[in-house]
Amino acid sequence: MCHALLQTPSFCALLRRIDEDLARAVRDRGCCHCGEPLHSTDYPRKPRGCPAAARVECDTRLSLCCADCRRRTTPESVRFVDRRVYLSIIVVLRSSRTHGVCLDGLPQVGWATLKRWRQWWSEAFPSTPVGRWLRGRLQPSPEPFVYPDCLLQAVQHHTQDERLIAILRLLLNPI
Ligand SMILES: [Zn+2]
Repeated sequence: MCHALLQTPSFCALLRRIDEDLARAVRDRGCCHCGEPLHSTDYPRKPRGCPAAARVECDTRLSLCCADCRRRTTPESVRFVDRRVYLSIIVVLRSSRTHGVCLDGLPQVGWATLKRWRQWWSEAFPSTPVGRWLRGRLQPSPEPFVYPDCLLQAVQHHTQDERLIAILRLLLNPI
C-alpha cells in the first residue's frame, strides 16, 4: 500500500464529500436537544501534515448549530479523528507497526506524538463505543488486538483508496 494518495487532490475531495454526506444526515435529523433546524457553523482547521494540494479540502471542520437553543453539533468525520491536529489518515498510517506498509508521501511525526497516539490506540480506543463495536466484528484472536494494525490487516479492497476509506469509515461511531 502506498500513500501518494494524500498528495492526490481527488482523494481528499472524496474524503470531504463523505464528510459533507455525514453532516447532511445529521442536519436532516434536526437538533438532538430541541428538534429545531440546524445551520452550518463550520470552523477553520489547519491540519498538520496536510499536503498543499489537499489543503483546500481539509481547511474546515463541518459543524452545525441549532437555530433555537444555539447548541452545537459536530458531525463525525473521515478527515479528522478525536481532537488530533493531524488528519485521520496520518494518525492511522503513522501509528501502524505493520511491516510492509509503505509510508512514502506521509509527513514525519515526532516520536513523542507517535508515542501518544499509540498509547491512545492501545489504552483509550478499545473502550470507546467504536472500539467495542469493532472488537465484535474482527476475527477472534487469542492475542489482544493491536490497533490500528489489525484494521489494516482486516480490511482488503481492490484499490488502495477504497481500502483506506473503508478503514476511515470503520473509525466512525457506529449508529
Ligand atoms: Zn436546539
